[in-house]
Amino acid sequence: MTRSITILGATGSIGASTLDLIRQNREAWDVKALTANCSAKELAALAIEFGAEMAVVGDAACLADLREALSGTSISAEGGAQALCEAASLGADMTVAAIVGCAGLAPVMAAVEQGKCIALANKEALVSAGDILMDAVARHGATLLPTDSEHNAIFQCLDGGELADIRWITLTASGGPFREWSHEQLASAKREQALKHPNWDMGAKITIDSATMMNKGLEFIEAWHLFPVGLDRLRIVVHPQSVIHSMVEYRDGSTLAQLGPSDMRVPIASCLAWPGRMDTSCKALDLPTIGQLTFFEPDEDRFPATKLAREAAHAGGAAPAVLNAANEVAVAAFLDGQITFTQISSLVARTLETRLPPAPTSLAEVLAVDAEARKLAEELREHA
Ligand code: NAD
Ligand code: MG
Repeated sequence: MTRSITILGATGSIGASTLDLIRQNREAWDVKALTANCSAKELAALAIEFGAEMAVVGDAACLADLREALSGTSISAEGGAQALCEAASLGADMTVAAIVGCAGLAPVMAAVEQGKCIALANKEALVSAGDILMDAVARHGATLLPTDSEHNAIFQCLDGGELADIRWITLTASGGPFREWSHEQLASAKREQALKHPNWDMGAKITIDSATMMNKGLEFIEAWHLFPVGLDRLRIVVHPQSVIHSMVEYRDGSTLAQLGPSDMRVPIASCLAWPGRMDTSCKALDLPTIGQLTFFEPDEDRFPATKLAREAAHAGGAAPAVLNAANEVAVAAFLDGQITFTQISSLVARTLETRLPPAPTSLAEVLAVDAEARKLAEELREHA
């Protein structure tokens, strides 16, 4: 049976992994819409290869290039933030949400409103608008499948079990490239060093988030919304081999873990085929070669980001959206050479300390909190 699919963020790392799986199962999928921020030529080539109905660039300034690259085809080309939501509203059976950042929130919400299946990689959407998004999922009868490897692991370990039976959910973290670095070394960490993740090949923003450990902080908040066992039942353990993607411990003392290669095609395939399974060409897990699995407590002295995220979750209201917005500004500033590596977390902390707007109660209010927090973080950065 053929199912229709839309990929939001088709030109990124998750988008490429998803399209790779579709390429190997062409007859199973009918591609409705593919989106990108700009990269018009790349997007057009993908839209042509996969016979998409629609291609959308989020940046309207790139629409002319997209139209030119698609001229002579019957693929409709659109541009701008609203067009991303239109692509998400085409009613595909499956929408893969793989835009990076809060920019993906409104399109994710548009997909949720269709009441179909959403494979969610875009964790920032859930961090910024957790309750509002989860309410919409329930209201519209949508199915939200976690694609982030840790959350996909937890989802698999839960396998329909009762949340009340859970003692702990343990998110594993690789610890990133600077796991063993001292305070002094971290203070002078360079962009190129931070962009080299030991285990995973990902987009630039999440790679920096992995180096600061903010990725695990965002994932902590993501897990809190997806698996509402309460904040005091969620914990993080550093596991440098990234073989165990996360674990669920039940009240009888039994712990279930999901293991796999560090290849996002595995959790994406689990979403695409859910509730069944599909073949992938991913390398099998070679445990004798890996040899050892090790575990450590996170060091929140050197990596304060997980503490900031946990505190933002406890504070609730606008705090997670402010945390996320400030982090997006800080990561962009670091990638741009404007701040140092350790200033990423301190800028997030200062933004949270400066001003917390009232709790948002709608998508529009979350987007307003996000915009305001970005402005504040920019000001704090300029006057640092
Ligand atoms: P990426 O930077 O490789 O790709 C991002 C995609 O979003 C691209 O198609 C880009 O064109 C598009 N995009 C960026 N800004 C946009 C905007 N303002 N408007 C519209 N489109 C925009 O990122 P990625 O690594 O693929 O990550 C995507 C999401 O998945 C992130 O939220 C990330 O945290 C999450 N995630 C990624 C991985 C991974 O292995 N890459 C793993 C788990 C979760
Ligand atoms: Mg993850």
